[in-house]
Formats: sequence, C-alpha cells, structure tokens
Amino acid sequence: MRTAVVLFTRDLRARDNPALATACANAERVVPLFVFDDRLRGISANRARFLHQAVADLRATFRGLGGDLVIRTGDPVAETMALARQVNAEGVAMAADVSTFARAQERRFAAECEQHRMSFRLFPGLTVVSPGDLAPGGGAGHYRVFSPYHRAWAAAGWRAEVAAPRRITLPDGIEVGRLPVVPDGDSPDTVTGGETEGRRRVTTWLRHVGPYAELHNDMPADGTSRLSAYLRFGCVSPLALANAVHKLDGEGSAAFVRQLCWRDFYYQVTYAFPKISTEAYRRSGDVDWRSNQDTLRHWRDGLTGVPIVDAGMRQMRVEGWMHNRARLITGAFLTKHLGLDWRAGVEWFFRWLLDGDVANNSGNWQWIAGTGNDTKPYRRFNPIRQAERFDPDGVYVRRYVPELKSVEGKAVHQPWRLPDGVRRGLDYPAPLESHRDEAVWLRL
Ligand SMILES: Cc1cc2nc3c(=O)[nH]c(=O)nc-3n(C[C@H](O)[C@H](O)[C@H](O)COP(=O)(O)OP(=O)(O)OC[C@H]3O[C@@H](n4cnc5c(N)ncnc54)[C@H](O)[C@@H]3O)c2cc1C
Repeated sequence: MRTAVVLFTRDLRARDNPALATACANAERVVPLFVFDDRLRGISANRARFLHQAVADLRATFRGLGGDLVIRTGDPVAETMALARQVNAEGVAMAADVSTFARAQERRFAAECEQHRMSFRLFPGLTVVSPGDLAPGGGAGHYRVFSPYHRAWAAAGWRAEVAAPRRITLPDGIEVGRLPVVPDGDSPDTVTGGETEGRRRVTTWLRHVGPYAELHNDMPADGTSRLSAYLRFGCVSPLALANAVHKLDGEGSAAFVRQLCWRDFYYQVTYAFPKISTEAYRRSGDVDWRSNQDTLRHWRDGLTGVPIVDAGMRQMRVEGWMHNRARLITGAFLTKHLGLDWRAGVEWFFRWLLDGDVANNSGNWQWIAGTGNDTKPYRRFNPIRQAERFDPDGVYVRRYVPELKSVEGKAVHQPWRLPDGVRRGLDYPAPLESHRDEAVWLRL
C-alpha cells in the first residue's frame, strides 16, 4: 500500500489544494501533517491566533472525511521526516513558497528525502499563477513592472482547480497529536481563521464585489473583501477566488481580480529577489534614512498628530488589519514625511497584520518608499489631500481616534486649524515635525 505525507504550511484548506489532491489520488494512505514551528513563535500574536484557529478548522474537516490532521511541534523538517519514516512513506508533498526562510526549508526537505530515498514534491497553490511561470519576452527573469505582468497574467492559462478529497485514510497506529491551546492575539477585534469561515466570507463577498471599483478607496465604506488573511494562510484558494469573481463580469470584479494579480506580482518579485524585506530592490531609491526612535514611537502608537495617519495606525492595532488606502498614507508619512527607514515600517506592520507576509508587506513598503517596483518612485502622498478625498466627512478618522469625536465634518483632518479654545479642549497632540522643510502640507 502506498503512503504519502502532506505537510501543510500556509495552504490550510482541503479544497483546491494540489498537494493534498495529488497525494490522495496516488496513495491509499495519506498523512496530512501540520508542524508548529518553535522558531516562529512570538513573531505576531495576531497571526498565531489566526493560524491556530485555521489548523483546528482543518483538523475538523479531515476528521469529517474519515482522517485527521496530525499535529507536531518542533522543527518541521525533523518532525516530518520522523513521521514519514515511521509510516514508511514513499514521499512528502507540500506547497511551494517564496520567502528565503521557506525556500531554505524546501532545500533541507529535498536533501533529507533524497537521503532516505523518498520522493519530495512541491506543488502550486499559494498564488493564482506560480512565481517563475511568467517571464518577460518568454525568456528568463521576472517582471519588474506591474502592467506588463498583469497583461501576461490575465492571458496565461491558469491551472485547473482541484476538488477536495472525498475520503482520507490514515495509516494505522499514528499518534495524531494534540492541538495546542489557541493563544491570545494582541488585537481585540479580529476575524476568525479557517477555511470554513473563509468560504463563508467568499460567498458573502461574491454578492458585494459589484461596486468594488468605486468603493475600494472609500475609507469609511469599508468596501473591500477583507479576505487577505484567508489568502495569507491559504484558507481560501486565490485561484478559486479569482475564477469565481471572474465569472461575475463587470467593473468591480475586473478591479478585484486585478488586485489578486498584484499579490501574485509581489510573489514573483520575491521569488526572484528573496531579500525584499531587508534590501532595497532599487538601490538608488534607498536614501539616507533618518533614525529617530521617539518619532518612530509616535508613528507606531498613532500619535503623530495627523488624524488620518493616526486612525490607520490605530485601526491596525484594534483589528489586525488596515485599509489599503490607510496603509499607503501611513507608509508614505513614515518614509516621505518623517524620513524614517521603510524597514521599520515593514517590521511594525509585520508584527500586527493578520495578512502580514514577506512578499506583500515588503513589496508594498518598497513601492511606497521609492525603492521598489513603482514606476513613479518620487510620488508623494499629501496626507491631508488624501484624507479629504477618501474620508471626506471624517467618518473613518472619528471611528478610530475617539479624542476627535466631537469635531464635525472634514475639520477633523486638520485639528491645528481649529480655534485655539476648541483645540486646547482636545486631548490630541500637535503634528510631529516633518524632517524636510516641508510643512507645506500643514498649511493647505
Ligand atoms: C504598506 C503596505 C503594506 C501591505 N502589507 C500587506 C501584507 O502584508 N499582506 C497583504 O496581503 N497585503 C498587504 N498590503 C496590500 C493591501 O493593503 C492588502 O492586501 C489589502 O488591504 C487587504 O484587504 P482586503 O483583503 O480587503 O483587500 P481587497 O481590496 O479586497 O483585495 C483583494 C486581495 O487582493 C490582494 N491585494 C490587494 N491589494 C494588494 C496590493 N497592493 N498588493 C498585493 N496584494 C494586494 C490581497 O490579497 C487582497 O486580499 C499592503 C499594502 C501596503 C500599502
């Protein structure tokens, strides 16, 4: 009888999971496995909670299919190989990933499997189109600019979706392992992890994607899918989501599928340039960043005195998620106004975001800082103009900055312009100095 081990990492779903589907089609006995990696503990409490919830949900799904999700804690390579030897597996399968960390682990797996005469196979599934599958001019290399990538991506033949297995049969006598207790997250108001919840949200989203093109920048409307964490952990298949939305037609669905392409774009950039979290993609943009811990602390704590910036930073703390427009505004404020290093922004977002991942977090930060794939790297974001355009009545700001609740309308975006008596009554700081002589934006 053939036995295969399928290691789950951030493809935490039964549906459209090529590694799982292939193993179930080719082996009579399949061991789905998740290893809690000790080294990743403490990076983000929010993501740890979401991950635990997603793993518990997957276990329940596999139990419903007659199998289980085997749980181990420790070094994923050592734990997987020990289990594979114990069950006499012919091979190990998992989803291919792009970060330096993940790829070093894949190389270790390949070497260990070779040594123990087992097959080791990497499968697609983390993106719609696999990183490295598309190259400019059909040659080698990766796409550095989004628009041509988008054209190639939309025209490419995507892989076929695969169904969830109908049954999973474990080998006899396996100790399935206990789920660790779900840890506390840091943010009080987060979504719940898991494929079940992800699917429910996709169904709802398919009914709401229509006005996405008009609403995705409207900060108070909250008109985006909020599916990013489910995509980050693979609770939702990006391919299945893109296919489902694509079928709907219309401007909203096209705009949404384009955003999924941005996600794939940064994965293929990271695949080609794995140091994306620490090294500038375009060195010339990597200016002499300031270092000022006190200013950085104000930015992190949402106490810059610029309401739209503070609202975004506080939304992230409360929800483990921040609106994309707020990410752009807060990111540009840190790098272009305060002159602080984008890497400090990468780190802080990575600590809080449920969707925090190497490719999208670092790729977007570099785009903002002018070191990345932006075709206009000297672009500036005036936070006040952005606020007045995308939060015209100040509803988003008042939602997250309660000190300004009493300020009506768009006046909330520039509290320093309020009459002295009113301003002094607010428990809200004056704006931080900009590092460049650029106080212009304050006087708009
Ligand atoms: C500084 C900064 C940091 C970011 N860090 C992350 C991150 O760590 N993880 C992450 O998933 N996204 C990141 N983004 C991109 C974007 O802000 C989020 O994907 C989006 O806000 C998630 O909300 P949503 O699911 O409602 O998005 P929707 O608007 O509903 O978009 C659907 C999906 O498309 C993808 N997407 C949308 N915009 C982008 C984009 N600009 N780049 C790449 N993919 C995109 C996401 O997977 C998203 O879930 C970052 C953006 C900025 C400016």
